[in-house]
Amino acid sequence: MTLTAKQDFGRFYDKVKQFDVTGKTLLIPSMAPFASRLLAACFHAVGVDALVLDTFKGLSIGKEFTSGKECFPCQVTLGDVLYFLRQEKKRLGAAFSPEKYVYFLPEADGPCRFGMYNKMQRLVLDRFEEFRDIPITYVSTRNSYSTVDIMPAAAASIFRKLCYVTIIIADILDRITWRVRPYELRAGLTDSFIQKALEVLVEQVQSRGTSLEFKGLFDIVGDTASTAKTFIDTRQPRRPLIGIVGEIYVRTHPDSNQNIVRMLERFGAEVVVASIGEWINYITYDMARNQKRFVKLALLRRDFASLMSGLKDLIPTQIEKYYQLGRQKQIYDRALKYLDIEKDHPIATLEHQMDKDRLYSFDIGTESALSIGAALEHLHEGCSGVVNVYPFTCMPSAVSTAVLKPLLNKMRMPYIDAPYDGAIQPNREIALRTFVHQAKQHLQSRNSGNRNDKAAKCHIKP
Ligand code: SF4
Repeated sequence: MTLTAKQDFGRFYDKVKQFDVTGKTLLIPSMAPFASRLLAACFHAVGVDALVLDTFKGLSIGKEFTSGKECFPCQVTLGDVLYFLRQEKKRLGAAFSPEKYVYFLPEADGPCRFGMYNKMQRLVLDRFEEFRDIPITYVSTRNSYSTVDIMPAAAASIFRKLCYVTIIIADILDRITWRVRPYELRAGLTDSFIQKALEVLVEQVQSRGTSLEFKGLFDIVGDTASTAKTFIDTRQPRRPLIGIVGEIYVRTHPDSNQNIVRMLERFGAEVVVASIGEWINYITYDMARNQKRFVKLALLRRDFASLMSGLKDLIPTQIEKYYQLGRQKQIYDRALKYLDIEKDHPIATLEHQMDKDRLYSFDIGTESALSIGAALEHLHEGCSGVVNVYPFTCMPSAVSTAVLKPLLNKMRMPYIDAPYDGAIQPNREIALRTFVHQAKQHLQSRNSGNRNDKAAKCHIKP
């Protein structure tokens, strides 16, 4: 008798699935520190007891249960969940109850391995009798990270809006930190202040988030930017601005990228990392783009049934796209009123940078589209260097490197690849130190050419 796919891979259906997680302890792998905390707060707001996993303590366990062919973020997140569950089992002993937990591991339906992380990690959890009954749930890029299948519909609609707003707020907290910390009057002032602001935001989101009254949250963003501005030592000259692009997990997870932002700051740079909001906006943008193409084709074929169904899909996606653009601008404006943080790149601008598909095409998709577009946009905006941060062997990042390296070299823009797999590369520091030196020279030559370079402007506008 031959088995059906469903029987063969039953565990991938039964224990990697979308279901209502209300009342469970949702285990969230840590990624960008501010965004992870605020994501957990959003889940709390709708009645899900979410917990951000302690990170990087279990890397050796993650490596032990992988073959080495997996992407580095897969090893880190696997190590985090196994470390947590082992500790929890030790702490609770016989009272440990696997039914209480759900492991949350989002996926993408793109061409690379991210779509398989949760299946692969299922196989590993199944090797432990005590963890076999812990289900894995996910949201997917397939339906633009909809949560309708993991919580009640009414909660999902609130969660979606709240989540988007808090992700943008997390991006802004990062940008305030990166704008102020290199020039702070006293070491540590910015980090401790932003951490306190984060705690206030988490409390607000948890207690009042579901009201979708965002004024209180926006006021905190404005106050945070306004106070943080006073930490800047205005006697210090503006440093060269470095844009970090690359794979979303490694570029935003400080332990995985060996704290590259702080390292670049230590060597004399100011840094801005591609945001989480950029990825969320891209997912919606790309969905609208595909739906528009479907509608156009239906129109050309005079297939009116397909045309109507295409429009039915496209209209809500377009509404969501403009909602996101409007909200993002509204929140950034609150911070920009007080402090000149870096704005985020609209996705349409990044696509425009592809020069009508000459450099890369959004039809191919993946994070390469964003990394290539953002690097060129950085160049256009007056950055003094670009770092491509990614997991060793990451497929889209290798594509970005292949396009960006020759292109930026030709344009005499300092550029460096920074691949990570958890190993310490003895020459990494010296390579980044040299890179920052080149960025400083780049800034100097721009300044001497009297270009209207943003990075050369003074801190506080008169
Ligand atoms: S984006 Fe890179 S790191 Fe992530 S799954 Fe794809 S190949 Fe792996």
